[in-house]
Amino acid sequence: MNELSNAYPTDFFQALDAKHHLHPFSDHGALRQEGARVIVKGEGVWLTDSDGNRIMDGMAGLWNVQVGHGRTEIVDAVANQMRQLSYYNTFFKTTHPPVVALSQRLAQLAPEPYNQFFYVSSGSEANDTVLRLVRYYWDLKGKPEKKTIITRWNAYHGSTVAGTSLGGMTAMHAQGDLPIPGIHHIDQPYWFGEGGEMSPDEFGVHAAQKLAAAIDALGEDKVAAFMAEPIQGAGGVVIPPDSYWPEIKRVLAERDVLLVADEVISGFGRLGEWFGLTHYDIEPDLVSLAKGLTSGYLPMGAVMVHDRVASIIEHEGGEFFHGTTYAGHPACAAAAFANLGILANEGVVEHVRDQAAPHMARLYERLGEHPLVGEARTRGLLGALELVPNKPSRARFANEGDVGTICRDVSFSQGLVMRAVRDTMILSPPLIISAEELDWMADTVWRVLDLTGQELKRRGLW
Ligand SMILES: *Cc1c(COP(=O)(O)O)cnc(C)c1O
Repeated sequence: MNELSNAYPTDFFQALDAKHHLHPFSDHGALRQEGARVIVKGEGVWLTDSDGNRIMDGMAGLWNVQVGHGRTEIVDAVANQMRQLSYYNTFFKTTHPPVVALSQRLAQLAPEPYNQFFYVSSGSEANDTVLRLVRYYWDLKGKPEKKTIITRWNAYHGSTVAGTSLGGMTAMHAQGDLPIPGIHHIDQPYWFGEGGEMSPDEFGVHAAQKLAAAIDALGEDKVAAFMAEPIQGAGGVVIPPDSYWPEIKRVLAERDVLLVADEVISGFGRLGEWFGLTHYDIEPDLVSLAKGLTSGYLPMGAVMVHDRVASIIEHEGGEFFHGTTYAGHPACAAAAFANLGILANEGVVEHVRDQAAPHMARLYERLGEHPLVGEARTRGLLGALELVPNKPSRARFANEGDVGTICRDVSFSQGLVMRAVRDTMILSPPLIISAEELDWMADTVWRVLDLTGQELKRRGLW
């Protein structure tokens, strides 16, 4: 290819891709055999593949395309910025207009104790930054022994060394001999999978008490922070029981341990509020942001820092020896600024809160009646369906993951991107999705479940 073009046949792209491209989160044996899916265009909630099929992007890319695909306002903002200043760094006491404008806009959108932002290029780097910041913070506070970070099994905090270690995905830990020392994992608040005979509220308190037990066992003087996603995304849209976050708050109020919210998914409107921290009424010391910050138009992440932590960094610290070449990149900052402008000016967050999320919840109530579905749950524009062989029980299919994979492939054939986490089917559509598009999505899911059931019967799995 001497120039970038969509105008080649699918197998041409697939052959070159197989020859030269190692993919993230892909089984290369299967990928090389089947050929990569080639996406050539995006508009609103819809994608087009290289065979001309229209597919609904039920995952908003990777949970990040809040304003939908193809927004020319963002493209124009980036192009204008790049004509002015395509790159300069923010190291060594330097700044530039787009990163100043973005920082002010973020501070206006965030609730009051949050006024300072540290920029990176991804959620993983945001969490790497968090790891260094919390340890640095305790050094500055004269408590250098407070270094351990508590996180949860089945959490997702990114794929760098720190991100993978902070995360609780055992399959990821197994590759690269992780986690690194100084990270301690506790149980997740996943009632459907792990709640046993307890009611959801009993289980929520029980899971939160695991944090108290861990801090007390490790020693409060050794624990730096507890880090968690308000709702686990990649772990399977694990919506904690309503009792969970209040109990976590209670546990932390009695102990001198920082709270870090990984809001890489819950930030920027996904739960019908600008940030998940107001949804759950928590006041974390640090907040990781990425994904929806730019709606995916360019890569950018940030750590949002509570005033009480920022003031220590500003006044006690001297130089913080951390930063990446592209921190606060002007084109990325321009994309984020334009994206946040669309979210605000078009009332997208209110659209989620008042229309789209309640509508999706109603549609999921119906999907919960399907014979394959053991639980249907939503919060904001996140949805999960637990596929089970026997509706009244919470028992799983044998060979967990096989049924989810079948369902995901069926879904794609029906024109809907739905993600499988083991046998839990996930949706997280763009926030600008309309009522009609949500109806189409739910009708398609019902048909996908019917077809999945037929396929399972054909294979003798159900
Ligand atoms: C995606 C994600 C990350 C990692 O972000 P990247 O930009 O992929 O590095 C971290 N935390 C959560 C909760 C995520 O969903």
